[in-house]
Amino acid sequence: MKPNLHATPADLTALVENDTATAWMSRGNCRNYPPATFFPSDGVGVDRARKICDGCPVLGQCLEYALEQRIEHGVWGACSERERRRILKRRRVAV
Ligand code: SF4
Repeated sequence: MKPNLHATPADLTALVENDTATAWMSRGNCRNYPPATFFPSDGVGVDRARKICDGCPVLGQCLEYALEQRIEHGVWGACSERERRRILKRRRVAV
């Protein structure tokens, strides 16, 4: 099944309960917020989403998942699309 790239990790909980590779999603701080919170249209919205991510017990896994899956939209692992592109670029340069 193709993942819904516009869903937050918490939205995907029902889909991943039996998938150990993505089981972390059900523990995200975002599980109690509307998905739109993580697809902001401006910097204020990005900051709001980041504050929810702050202290999330699965932040590292969330960010790596978004990087590995090349998810282009939304805030994942406290990083915006632009920040994730920068991380990927730095990793390519470092290789
Ligand atoms: S880091 Fe943010 S987007 Fe990722 S699971 Fe945690 S709260 Fe959700």
